[in-house]
Amino acid sequence: MMHHVPVAITRCETYEMEEVFRAVELACDAASIPDVSGKRVLLKPNILSDAAPEKAITTRGEVLRAMIRLMYAKGAKQVLVGDSPGIHGPSFVPKGSGIAQACKEEGARWCEFARDPVMHRIPGTYGLKLPLPNVMDEIDIIISVAKMKTHQLMYATGSVKNLFGMVSGLHKSSCHMLYPTREGFARMLAGLYSVIKPQFAIMDAIVAMEGAGPAAGNPRHMGLILASADPSALDAAQSIIMGYDPLSIPLTRELLDRRLTEWRRIDEISYPLLDAHDLICTDFERIVQQKRTKLLNSLIGPLFTRYFKLRHQRKEPRPLFDPDACIGCGKCVKICPGKALKLDSNHKVVADYDACIRCYCCHEVCPADAISIEKE
Ligand code: SF4
Ligand code: SF4
Repeated sequence: MMHHVPVAITRCETYEMEEVFRAVELACDAASIPDVSGKRVLLKPNILSDAAPEKAITTRGEVLRAMIRLMYAKGAKQVLVGDSPGIHGPSFVPKGSGIAQACKEEGARWCEFARDPVMHRIPGTYGLKLPLPNVMDEIDIIISVAKMKTHQLMYATGSVKNLFGMVSGLHKSSCHMLYPTREGFARMLAGLYSVIKPQFAIMDAIVAMEGAGPAAGNPRHMGLILASADPSALDAAQSIIMGYDPLSIPLTRELLDRRLTEWRRIDEISYPLLDAHDLICTDFERIVQQKRTKLLNSLIGPLFTRYFKLRHQRKEPRPLFDPDACIGCGKCVKICPGKALKLDSNHKVVADYDACIRCYCCHEVCPADAISIEKE
């Protein structure tokens, strides 16, 4: 008999709370959410820049609320919610996105992951250690509460990539310097995933982000909630709906190669509710996939020098800075791992493209939509 890994997909047309709760409960049950009774559960939403909910950058507060309510309804002892987005420090509270309010009103404890993190060795990275939240020792179950979004570097932000937000603050940007190519970054993310070991994932795809994700794209109504006990299977279903071949996503390939998935072939993913193949959005605005990156990486392998990888990465499309839209906040300068940016005397950004590694962190944190990605 064929082995099946279920991904439950259900309709949810609006962020009206009753409808969201019904959809979240149905998807979680159909995807066989683990027993949370008497357990401490950590929910990891995607907060990124803590933007206003209608921008579709963050997991919506309504989906998070529904998950908190469901966990308590199923007997969870305590629900914790946390993230460590972008350049924020230990005192960060996500008020702009409505996440902080959802936690307060639903009785969940907000944890900022940058407070006293613990170093963990990341497998498959030649000794990299990353700071992860100290609450990992206190909790029984981790659930990724993701947002359906495109991603300039990784093509799609799924429930596995969402876990990168568990790495404390600016340590995230140094990972881009160490692993500048898509394949290298996917290797690091897969190692991180193997340490965090989330037991379940749910995705807010009611309004997704298409185009220049994960922060500067456009909201796109999809009207869906996805859930799975295998986050990699959920992400494969997301890729199908977006119109990608899931195996063309470097992170999914890496998870499969490292046997970090419950499935080996795409037809081992089953759909107890709606089938992802019936939901393909043919005009979804995807990130153009770079074939040469894949080819070069298959040739040079993980041991090839970082110098050549960086040189190769610099052939990717450049971030472009619009001086009229720029408000001179300096967030892009602060996060830039390549030290490629500075503010001039008029508080406008000056970029050194020889130093830029095309990680697009600047694009993710800009609050003024002043950074676009060059069209090839
Ligand atoms: S300029 Fe932007 S894309 Fe280039 S290295 Fe800095 S943060 Fe990354
Ligand atoms: S480009 Fe954006 S992030 Fe950078 S200084 Fe200007 S407004 Fe701030």
